Amino acid sequence: MPGLYIHIPFCKKACTYCDFHFSTAKHRDALLDAMGSEMIKRSRELGDSPVSTIYFGGGTPSLLEPDRISEFVQQARDLFRVDRDAEITLEANPDDITAERLNTWKSGGVTRISLGTQSFREDRLRFMGRAHSADQALRSIALIAKAGFTSWTIDLIYGLPGMTLGEWDEQLDIALEQGMPHLSAYCLTVETRTALAHQVRKGLVAMPEDDDQSAQFDRLMERMEAAGLDHYEISNFGKPDHHSRHNTSYWDGATYLGIGPSAHSFNGNVRRWNVSNNAVYVKALAEGTSFCESEELTAVQRTNERLMTGLRTALGVDLLKLEVDALRINSSAFQRHVSNGHLCLEAGRLVLSKAGRHFADRIASDLFVTEDDR
Ligand code: SF4
Repeated sequence: MPGLYIHIPFCKKACTYCDFHFSTAKHRDALLDAMGSEMIKRSRELGDSPVSTIYFGGGTPSLLEPDRISEFVQQARDLFRVDRDAEITLEANPDDITAERLNTWKSGGVTRISLGTQSFREDRLRFMGRAHSADQALRSIALIAKAGFTSWTIDLIYGLPGMTLGEWDEQLDIALEQGMPHLSAYCLTVETRTALAHQVRKGLVAMPEDDDQSAQFDRLMERMEAAGLDHYEISNFGKPDHHSRHNTSYWDGATYLGIGPSAHSFNGNVRRWNVSNNAVYVKALAEGTSFCESEELTAVQRTNERLMTGLRTALGVDLLKLEVDALRINSSAFQRHVSNGHLCLEAGRLVLSKAGRHFADRIASDLFVTEDDR
């Protein structure tokens, strides 16, 4: 079933590693109004299909006045057939969390909070340029539980310069002590055009060896398995019934509509992406001109996307559901990854082994079918 993604492109400050689209502008009304117009303009794109998930991402959705989130939820309910039990997730940063805000989000329809914790250590938070403190991270988790949110998740980052297994274990201990039902854990990567990339180029920061990051990923898998959280996608772990329904629909290749600057949409055939510039977006909406680009995917491209996203999940890829014949998958790469123990074929599904999860994207691209094969 389709999902709705609403991109709120504002942040208090730039984190050093981030390459998402956001602005630190304080004047937000014109942009938010333009997003409301986009939602109206595109409300027919999902037809009569019920919307089962809404996701407020960013940027920092929790920066907005909480009533503004409720207004977007209400607008979505007015324009689309939103399921009564839809999962409605809000990304929030610890420095924005108060009991009052949580109550407003909850009464406005938000069912799940995704907390941008990243670390419980003050020095790491400063290194990453985060706006919150370690204390705020812990306090906000307590407030989320107290406000009655049964579904919530935290983000943590590992693979930081100088991080030891001992430090990572301590971070996971603290996270588990909070009783989190879900964790998204990401390995720090250096994206071009970020402050971190500049620091690395200048020799001010030395990134860790791959082996250190791999050992931390192994420890993560081990600790989450012992704690009863399913490793249902490379970076995501959740107790049963707490897996992110919205993100799972992306990995399943479901339809979704993305609203706001830089938001992506997919209708099963065409992928489109909105302009990543707030001023251009607002102007285009006001003038009725185009604010997006799009690409119609071929069957081969759709198949390769299924391989890329499906292999990242615990369920893997159902070969019978691929649009092009599974025999066209690169057979020598398939044999190589099976024989080195990274890939398995289980009941007609291609699934990565634990060792293979370290190389998910590379294995998927090795298996890609090509247009020339048709
Ligand atoms: S708060 Fe999130 S979106 Fe904003 S700069 Fe930091 S990581 Fe990027």
